[in-house]
Amino acid sequence: MHLSNYIKSFNYDEKPGSHLVYSTKRAAVLVLKKEIIESIESGTLSLAAEKTLSDLGIIIPDKEAEKKSMLGLIDGLNARDTGMNVTVVLNMDCNFACVYCYEGEMKGRLYMTEDIADLLIDFIKEKFTDTTKSINIDFFGGEPLLSKDLIKYISHAMKSFAGDKGAEYTFSLVSNGSLLKREVAEELKALGMQGVKITLDGPAEIHNKYRPFKKGGGSFDAIIRNIKETCDLVKIGIGGNFDQENYQRFPELLDYLEKEGLTPDKISQVKFDAVMKRPKGDASPADYVDGCMSINEPWLIAAGIYLREEILKRGYSTPRIMPMPCQVELKNSYVVHFDGTLYKCPGFIGKKGFETGSLREGMTDYSASYKTGIWKNDECLGCEYLPLCFGGCKYMTYIRDGNVESIDCKKPYLDASLEALVRQDINYRRQARAK
Ligand code: SF4
Ligand code: SF4
Repeated sequence: MHLSNYIKSFNYDEKPGSHLVYSTKRAAVLVLKKEIIESIESGTLSLAAEKTLSDLGIIIPDKEAEKKSMLGLIDGLNARDTGMNVTVVLNMDCNFACVYCYEGEMKGRLYMTEDIADLLIDFIKEKFTDTTKSINIDFFGGEPLLSKDLIKYISHAMKSFAGDKGAEYTFSLVSNGSLLKREVAEELKALGMQGVKITLDGPAEIHNKYRPFKKGGGSFDAIIRNIKETCDLVKIGIGGNFDQENYQRFPELLDYLEKEGLTPDKISQVKFDAVMKRPKGDASPADYVDGCMSINEPWLIAAGIYLREEILKRGYSTPRIMPMPCQVELKNSYVVHFDGTLYKCPGFIGKKGFETGSLREGMTDYSASYKTGIWKNDECLGCEYLPLCFGGCKYMTYIRDGNVESIDCKKPYLDASLEALVRQDINYRRQARAK
């Protein structure tokens, strides 16, 4: 037996003579004595230990065969996937005037019409197969709640269709939170709303500067009021966009949330991301700064680790480190713009050459335009980070190069941060268990 190709091992001074071993493929972590690691290499591992380590994906019989099997990993995921996930941009309008919003020139009174919504409903019905068990829509904007009636229209149709097929329909919103009144949440929950991701850019003073209402005035207090009114009805996740000057003040927001009674049991997740530098005229949803992206700049790596620690140490939940292929590679994942154009990632909305057809004409082949499978090369297959990276984020590559011809290598980021992130996950999981 051999150590898997997809293992990172760190010194574990807490237990002298031991290593912290993390499988990037299984997101499994364990502390192994040096002698155990040596006995793997020398073939003298006990049968019981061999079984445990094999089950956890830490050891494998053949390193080359493991690399080959990775080639089929995403195809396998796609074949087993029983859920359909559709990101829908309902409009390009907003009642906020965020200073970093690069929907910029594209923004305005552009809304999905009922005709396009009908095409969307037909599209989802057509993609539904005998193996589909769930349909989930993530509604984006602009501000999706400016299209509340359309959310209801689409959700009525989807809920009844899914019900007839014995499947489940759910949806979530990525919203600025200002229009999420209790009666709105009640109405939408009855139609399948599960969660709302709301952006708070740090404590009130900073947030109000970055995310004012279009008509003027800060939006912080209105959002907090709405979160308090609705957090018992739907899962509220909090996101936030920081920059180099203000990230150290984000823990003040966490303290404020706690003080206001928005304790970890009331908030489903907290995650802060850096404000993205986007090209002028970029039409992708402003709040689309998702877990998939990472940036290799040193200050950002340090800021990310620091803020994650501050979130976890107050008991809030934040995404764990785990294998995550890019959404572009997932067959049952679609992005629909308000005008009915299809894409594979919200980051590419409005970018010429990245359309993948339309609701009217159906999907076109996107493997060449999005360079799917770019990670199927010797360097990536031999890289211990492959399951966490799969060639990185195509949107980041596009921002860097203006095309998606090469990989967005996460090695510098993962070299600098993985140990700290894995340690955070063990420490805070252990504390949670001890409570
Ligand atoms: S291209 Fe980047 S942002 Fe888009 S789905 Fe893939 S990883 Fe996420
Ligand atoms: S892009 Fe870089 S980090 Fe990602 S799998 Fe390839 S070599 Fe590894």
